[in-house]
Parts: sequence; structure tokens; C-alpha cells
Amino acid sequence: MIRKRLVYILLFLILMVSLAACSQVPKNQDQSNLKVLAVESFLADIVQNVTGDRLEVETLMPRGLDPHSFEPTPKDVARINDSDILFVNGAGFEAWLEDIIENIPEELVVVEASAGLQSRAVVEEEYADEDEHDNEIDPHFWLDPTLVITYAENIRDGLIVIDPAGEEIYTSNTEEYIQQLKDLDVYIQEKISVIPVERRLFVTNHESFGYFADRYGFKIVGTIIHSVSSGSAPSAQQMAELVDQMRATGAIAIFMETGSNPQLAEQLSTETGIKVVYDLYTHSISEAGGNAPSYIDLMKYNVEQMVSALAE
Ligand SMILES: [Zn+2]
Repeated sequence: MIRKRLVYILLFLILMVSLAACSQVPKNQDQSNLKVLAVESFLADIVQNVTGDRLEVETLMPRGLDPHSFEPTPKDVARINDSDILFVNGAGFEAWLEDIIENIPEELVVVEASAGLQSRAVVEEEYADEDEHDNEIDPHFWLDPTLVITYAENIRDGLIVIDPAGEEIYTSNTEEYIQQLKDLDVYIQEKISVIPVERRLFVTNHESFGYFADRYGFKIVGTIIHSVSSGSAPSAQQMAELVDQMRATGAIAIFMETGSNPQLAEQLSTETGIKVVYDLYTHSISEAGGNAPSYIDLMKYNVEQMVSALAE
């Protein structure tokens, strides 16, 4: 009799355990089915650091493309509509997205990674035609790793909205990544310290290194394209002014970004005798096995190029 009762209890326990296991299944399936999409490759890498192994992150934009002039295909729009969460840089960086966002499914969560950050003022002396730049927002926050801390926090909060069960994992991954960002900041300060302050001069393709310059004590002598976007071409007069600025400040190098047309930089170089450094990564990480396969690698690689061009 006792033995029979024990068998019943055992059967009951097995039933309970199986029921508990079954109720776990749909939850796990939900989470692994979540479609996570980030617009830019550097952003996808940051998101992947926050999700860890829990979710797989896809990138919308092919690597090496100029996001300022990106034109989405119908397939890109379908990928956006098909995702559960979409990460964008924000601050006007993805102007092409505005119309698409108006028509996305209601349940799709859109996270602006830079939400809460204040745009730097585009400094007047950086341009001779400053009036045009009064209302410009500079979206390139990520080139200062201390600002990417805000990105990681926004990403974490967005992920918790679509996958509350993963909160602990996302929170702990974010803390770990923030520490890596702080270490990166210290690393950059140490590396840059070999460049004398008076040699910390940027001539770049477009206005992308503002936050980096602010953080690490660089001065922007001028940019070939007078904009935080990279769409417009400079006039002959603007090019002549840039040549004058470069001579007056003793600029040492012209820094080009991957994916940009080097023709104007080479023209400046011929005119001034100032060398061109070709491959800073700004809008895109490299393929795996390349020079900058992650956001942190991208920053380290750029700093290496700056140090080798500008240190005495
Ligand atoms: Zn840019």
C-alpha cells in the first residue's frame, strides 16, 4: 500500500516536472525567434556585446558603404518590417529611414542608440561659411567611447522591452561592456599622449571626428566637405580656403575614411605637400579578419594610424 502511494507521488512529481519543462519551451522559442536588426555594422557589434549569446544580431547596411548617402532597396525595407527590434544610431544619421519608420508594424520596437546625448555645437571657426551650420546636429557620437556608454544602456533597455526574461543577462553584459569602453578610453589617452598637443590637428574628409577631437584634445583644421554629412562637394573657393588653413596651422596629415573618394584629398596633398592617411574607419567596421572587425578594434586601429602619422 505504501509502495503504491509512493509510485503515485513519484508519477505526480514526474508530471509536474514535465509540465514545468513544457511551459519553458514556448518562452525559449520566443526569445530565439526574435529578429534583431541594427542599421550599421559598428552598431550591430555594440548590440551583439549587449545580447551576448542570447540573441543573434543582423546588420542592415553592407560594410564599407557610406550611410549618409544610403538608399534602401525594397528588400531592406522588408527586412526592417520583418524585425522585432531595430537599432538605429539616431540624431539624424539615418535620414533615409524617416519615411520607412512611418509605415512600420506597430509592434516593431525602434531604439535610437544615441537617445539622450547632446549634439556638440559645430564650432564656427571650423568653417568659413558658419551660417549654414547653425542647426546642424553631429550624429558621430560613437567616435568617443565614453558616449558609447549611453548607447549600451539604451540598447540594454530596448532589449529588455522585447525580451524581459533576459534582463539579468543584458544588464550584466552591459556592465561588462561599459568597463571595456572605459578601458578603451584610457588606452586611447595613453596612446595619444605621445602626440604633442600642437600636432593634434585633423584635416578630414567630412566632419566626423568632432566628438573624438573634443575628448582627446584635437583641433579640426578643416574638412574637405563642409558638413557632418558627406553628400555635398566643396567649391573651388572652399578648397582654396582649406589649403590656406592647412598652411597656416601647420597641418601634418589629411585623414580619409574608408569608403570615401580620395581624389580631393590627393589634390590637396599635391598642392600642400601634406600626406594622406587613407583608411580610418568611421561609419563601418571591417570584415572579420580585417583591420577593424569590431567597434573597439575600429577605435584602436584609427588611433594607431593617428599616432603613426602625427607623433614626432
Ligand atoms: Zn559621417
